[in-house]
Order: sequence, then C-alpha cells, then structure tokens
Amino acid sequence: MQKPPDERVRSYYEASAGPTPGHAAVVADGSARTIVVGGGYAGLATARGLIDRGDRDVLVVEAEHVGFGASGRNGGFVFGGYSLGEASLLRQLGADAARRVYARSIAAVNLIRRRLYEHAIECDAVDEGVLWANWFRDDSVLRERAELLKRHFDTDWEWVDAARLRGMLDSPRYGAALFERNALHLHPLKYARGLAGSVVAGGGRVAEGTRIVALARDAEGWRLRTDAGHTLRCERVVLCCGGYLAGLRPAIDRSILPIATYVVATAPLGERLAQLFPGTRAAVYDSRFAFDYYRPLADTRLLWGGRISIRDRSPAQVAALLQRDIARVFPQLGAVPIDYAWSGLMSYARHEMPQIGELEPGLWYAQAFGGHGLATTTAAGELLAEALCGDRGGLADYRGYGLPWAGKPFGFLAAQATYWWFQGRDAYKDWRESAR
Ligand SMILES: Cc1cc2nc3c(=O)[nH]c(=O)nc-3n(C[C@H](O)[C@H](O)[C@H](O)COP(=O)(O)OP(=O)(O)OC[C@H]3O[C@@H](n4cnc5c(N)ncnc54)[C@H](O)[C@@H]3O)c2cc1C
Repeated sequence: MQKPPDERVRSYYEASAGPTPGHAAVVADGSARTIVVGGGYAGLATARGLIDRGDRDVLVVEAEHVGFGASGRNGGFVFGGYSLGEASLLRQLGADAARRVYARSIAAVNLIRRRLYEHAIECDAVDEGVLWANWFRDDSVLRERAELLKRHFDTDWEWVDAARLRGMLDSPRYGAALFERNALHLHPLKYARGLAGSVVAGGGRVAEGTRIVALARDAEGWRLRTDAGHTLRCERVVLCCGGYLAGLRPAIDRSILPIATYVVATAPLGERLAQLFPGTRAAVYDSRFAFDYYRPLADTRLLWGGRISIRDRSPAQVAALLQRDIARVFPQLGAVPIDYAWSGLMSYARHEMPQIGELEPGLWYAQAFGGHGLATTTAAGELLAEALCGDRGGLADYRGYGLPWAGKPFGFLAAQATYWWFQGRDAYKDWRESAR
C-alpha cells in the first residue's frame, strides 16, 4: 500500500540535509556596506562574489532559512542556458551579445563546480552530465538545437541515438537524446547551506529568521526595517527574493509571476533504480514544453519533478499527479510509492530572462530566473559583484531585459493558458505519432 506523503516533512531535501547549521536572526540595529535581501542562490552568490573580490562587509538577510525558497526545493540540475531558449536569445540580442550571455551561464556551471571543491561543499554532486531526451520520434527539434548550439554558442551536445539511449535508460518512451556533458546535479538545499557557510567563512554575515519589511533612502544611504523592529543601514541593498515576493518595491514585485512547479521523491527502490538507469547517472529532462525532469539519488530513490501551475497543490495531490507521470516513462514501476512531495515557486518575467540591475542609486535587484536558476543565479551574482565593485560592463548585455509589468492577475491566467496550449500541442503531436 502506498505510504501517504508526510505532511510535516514536506521535502526530501529538508529530511536528508542533516542538521541545519543555523544563522542567528538580527536582534539589534546594525549596518553593513552591502545588505542582500533573500538567502537563495541569487543572494548568496552575490555575497560570495563580493567576498571573492575582497569586499567582505556584506550581510545576507533571509526571512525564513537559507534555501527556504526555490533554491532549497529544486530539481538540482546545474546546466547552461536560460529559461529563454537559445534561438530567441540569438534573435533578440544578435550573435555577439547572445554568445556572451550564453557563455556567462556556462562559466557559472564551471564556477559552481569550482566552489564545491574550494569550499568543500558536500552536496551529493554527480558530475555526469544531463540528458535532453526526445519525447517524440521526430528528431528535427534535437538536430536543430544541436546545430544552433554548435554554430552560434561553441557548445557541443553529443547525439545519443534511440538505441544507445535505451542502453542508458530503461524507458520505451523516448526517441533520441542530446547529452550535455558539461552539467551536473546536486542536492540543492545542501548546496545552498554550503554556499551560506562559505559566505560566513569568508568574512561575510548571514542572518536567518529576519524579514525585511520596509526600505527607505536618506542622506546616509539605505535604511531597512526588520519584522522585529530593528534598523539596518547600508550603502547599497540588493533584492534577491525570487518568487517569494518581498513587498518592498512595487516595480520589482509587479514584474514577476510566481509560478509553482512540483517535485517528489519515491521510496528507496533498491536494485530497481539501477535497472532504470543501466548506463548512466545523468539527470534527465525531455523535449516537451511541460517536461518531466528526474535523476537517480544515491539512496536509490528516484527524484522526479514536473508540471507548472499557478496553483499550489497539496503534497497528496502532487504525489498522485507525478506518480502517473512516472508510470508513463517507467511503466515497469507501476504505482511507485512516493515518500515526499512538495512544490516551490519559480519567478518568471514576461521576457523569460533574468532581471538584473539597479533600480535607483544603490538599490539593486536580481530575480526572474524561472526554472533555469542554478547556474544563472550564479552568473547574476558575478555580474552584480562586478558592478558593485565598479565594473558595470557585463550588465549591458542584460539591460534590454528590464522590469516590464508581468500583468498580474491576468498574467497568471495567460501563463496557465499558455501552459495548457503547449501541453495540448505536445499531446496532439504524441497522439499523431502513435497513430502512425
Ligand atoms: C521545484 C523547482 C524545481 C527547479 N528545478 C531547477 C533545476 O533543476 N535547475 C535549475 O537550474 N533551476 C531549477 N529551478 C529554478 C531555481 O531553483 C530558481 O531559479 C532559483 O533557486 C532562484 O533563486 P533565487 O535566489 O532567485 O530565489 P529563491 O531561492 O526563491 O530565494 C528567495 C528568498 O528570498 C526570501 N525573501 C523574500 N522576501 C524576503 C524579505 N522581505 N526579507 C528577507 N527575505 C526574503 C525568501 O524567503 C527566499 O528564501 C527550480 C525551481 C523550482 C521551484
């Protein structure tokens, strides 16, 4: 009989990350040269980037705990690129800028790898690439993408034909695949905590359980008020609150649509997990608009994510939905027992690119990383750290991706309708191929 997901321990990551190191809340008035609001990857990467450049007077303030938001709940895929596809990037930015922007995401993958090593961050990293598997038999989408990446982005994704893929992954579902070798997967909450630890070890500060409730500028700089009534002062403030909107500046919040996506971890599968992945330990996602993403875990569970929605469903609903999705790919598992089910909020801008910049003198922001945030938050942290240390050059390529109104509440409906439309289109294509 299926064990119901435990409502108290909602995420596998929380259950498996070990004891939290814990960072004390702000309990008195204070100051720092730079204050970062939000203890997700974007905030932590900005702080780490500043410390790497010798600017150690930085304080990260997090309302809940480090990795409470998307950064502690995600699929754990570390790969190149952005939510916006490469073809659109090329069309919108032109060849040179698109290449630079894409290269920033690849450099970020490499930087994450280096940080894991340099700061001895234990986060179950599996540096064995990511497979982009074709849900359909028609492989023109794969060929076109591989060609585009090679021609314009100096990036070589390896072609894996259907027979070879079947030897790597025991699923009858897919056609061919592309293999992105320069990619890895990891335990996202352990990584967030490790990054926070590296900020503190480097001379920065992290405060948890401290919500910033107001932000104002005066002659001396920025004044932030905490929910406990303390005042923090700084020269510059960086808002990195993702889909967990801070409510501090309407222009920042209005440009974001928080969109939910779901993840489950099965019960340990023992030998059966190795049988599903006979020839790879890579993470896998597929070529549909509403794709599945999954990876094998060391304790023989299957971690599985998918779907996007404007609704935050209960763990039991998420478990039931994704259990069905798993059975479509691995029918041999039947109704696989799900031990953990949870959801998280991604932040999307209308243009599907990150928003990184300065809103007013000394008020900076980095948000809207969508479902492609592990590497891109790291890239954003580097861009902001460079800018805060005087070099704004890198930001120029991102300037066109500003803070347009995301259209709430109609934006939510449009996002859901778009999702359904693409989901319907994929289902139709699937039906046509199977009818042939
Ligand atoms: C389920 C899921 C799966 C995903 N899978 C992947 C994946 O496999 N690979 C990938 O690259 N990306 C993935 N993503 C996307 C990625 O996780 C995000 O893009 C990234 O974590 C965003 O980081 P962030 O720092 O911008 O936001 P968050 O991690 O959401 O952090 C924002 C933080 O700000 C805090 N905050 C908000 N308001 C305040 C305030 N007033 N005061 C203090 N603190 C405040 C919040 O508590 C929160 O901790 C996934 C996302 C989700 C939700």
